Amino acid sequence: MLKNEQKAPYNTFLLAALVAGFTLLTLFMVTSLSRDNDKYLIQQAVYHYSDDLSQQNIDNIDLLPASVWSEENSQNFGFTLAPQWLKFELPSNAGGRILEIDYPMLDDVQLWFRKNANGTYVVLQDYQLGDNFDFNQRPIIHDRFLIPVPLEQSSIQVLLRIKSKGAVKAPLKLWATQDYIVYTASHRLFLGLFFGYMLAMGLINVFLFTTTKNTMFITYAGYVFSFALLIATLHGIGFRFIWPHSPWFQERTTIIFAFLMMSFVLIFSSQILDLKKLNRNFYKALQVFFAIYLASTFASFVLSYALMVKFFLILSLFSIPTILFISLSLTFKGSKIARYFSAAWLVLMISGLTATADNFHWVDMPIDSSYLLMVGASTETLLLALALATSYSLQRNEARLSYQEADENEVRTIQVQDELLQLQKQAQLDLEEQVRARTQEFEKALSGLSLVNTELKDLSETDALTGLTNRRLFNKNIKAEAARSRRERNPLAIALLDIDNFKAVNDNYGHQCGDDCLVAFADALKRTVKRPGDLLSRFGGEEFVVMLPNTTIEGATVLLEKVRLAIEAMIVETQGNKISFTVSAGLTARVVCNDGDTDIMLAFADKLLYKAKEAGRNCIKSGNFDE
Ligand code: GH3
Ligand code: MG
Ligand code: MG
Repeated sequence: MLKNEQKAPYNTFLLAALVAGFTLLTLFMVTSLSRDNDKYLIQQAVYHYSDDLSQQNIDNIDLLPASVWSEENSQNFGFTLAPQWLKFELPSNAGGRILEIDYPMLDDVQLWFRKNANGTYVVLQDYQLGDNFDFNQRPIIHDRFLIPVPLEQSSIQVLLRIKSKGAVKAPLKLWATQDYIVYTASHRLFLGLFFGYMLAMGLINVFLFTTTKNTMFITYAGYVFSFALLIATLHGIGFRFIWPHSPWFQERTTIIFAFLMMSFVLIFSSQILDLKKLNRNFYKALQVFFAIYLASTFASFVLSYALMVKFFLILSLFSIPTILFISLSLTFKGSKIARYFSAAWLVLMISGLTATADNFHWVDMPIDSSYLLMVGASTETLLLALALATSYSLQRNEARLSYQEADENEVRTIQVQDELLQLQKQAQLDLEEQVRARTQEFEKALSGLSLVNTELKDLSETDALTGLTNRRLFNKNIKAEAARSRRERNPLAIALLDIDNFKAVNDNYGHQCGDDCLVAFADALKRTVKRPGDLLSRFGGEEFVVMLPNTTIEGATVLLEKVRLAIEAMIVETQGNKISFTVSAGLTARVVCNDGDTDIMLAFADKLLYKAKEAGRNCIKSGNFDE
């Protein structure tokens, strides 16, 4: 925010020159206005008596000893509810002139023109005026207190009784009618300019509010109007033109407008300095002050004027420095708006303080103090309008920037969405790829498993030492072959073979050599019995079985004889030994007729084998069991 402000399209020097020129022009105008103003102050001694017990009236006032009256030329009696009595002699040429009490804020003024007739005073004319009375009761219908001096040759004494809830002041002036007309003409012009200016500023901002809906404009307009009304009241113009029939309201207007103006000032300050965003503590402080001022605005309608004035002064002693402090601290942080704002407040404070100092005669300004305040007010209003314009243009810039940002964000969002979509697609592809790879791995593992399974199956059906099928597979196959034999009515031959005296081989050469011999035997068997349907199995130990489908006993006998001869001729060379051995066999064959036939055939073959062993080994015994 602060950084942005540097871009505000205003030339500081040009603006400073404009503001200074404006101020100088107004100062010049009011100086020329009030140059000769003081020369109309009455020159005669004014005697003053403060009737603290409020006991005196026109009938008994002359009974007071002369010592209670004191000469008083400051004509400022401060805040007092006690009736203040003033008396003075008018110069001899005063008849027909205009007496002015140059302070339009008095509540209750009684005035007597008297003439000294042989030691006693005779009332020539008396008037009652002040804000407590209807405006149209005034002897001269004017926003100032103007009283026509009666035409009288002898010297005239003026006796005044003033009672007011506000400050009691009574600068007394004596005007020739022509002089007053001349003075009024320029004075009116200046007042007209001032109020016209304030009205224009206020109205423009009301219009700006209606078109922009930016509440800063309306709070600013509120401030301008309440400030203008306050000054109008101070000059008696409000009572003259706006509420002439309501002394009740006139009595309170000053303080009501003062509180109202400060309420607007506080709201406007936090708005224009953007305190809600920049500094929460400052914001809260101004909110609290605002609440108090606003409540006091309403309270001023009912509570005593004197009390509310004091409260206003005390409250402002805290609130105005707070606003200035906040504004200055933001100025030092580089805020351009705060700079204008501080300048505005400094101008108003300086003019306010100078007016006060002049009022109390601490300094003697060549300018009427009420004019000074108006100069300050118009310059402040101008500076605040500048701050407002700057702030508004910044807000618009910011809004434009945030629109741009929103646009960029939208583009970015679309980009991100695209990226997301791409990522999603990629992820899907990756996933599919992964699934494919996993499936492959799985299939591989599965096929591996089936391979292992086959191996396992082979292992469970194969004899590890010789590579022949084992007894398990034999038992399985013999059933199938028996069924086929029965079906096709072909003979099935079964022979049991047992190596002769194998124990001795083991005993003589060792178990390893025995194993080698078993392997050599199996190989010889495979070489000899090699028809596709033939099945060779190791039955256990050195015992083997040969199953020959579709083979007669004669054919089988021939084959087995070949085996016997081959074994007999074989010499197994192992571990430096040359080992030879023989084999005996029992053989049977038949066309299978019943389920139990194979068991019977096996038992019969075993019996024949036993016979072969008995017959001296290295021979084959064959036969049909049912013969
Ligand atoms: P017969 O002529 O009466 O058959 O005499 P044999 O010694 O062959 O018969 P026996 O049944 O008494 O002995 C069988 C021997 O076969 C016992 C064992 O030493 C041997 N043998 C059995 N299985 C194996 C084997 O797997 N490896 C080895 N090396 N020897 C075996
Ligand atoms: Mg044996
Ligand atoms: Mg044996």
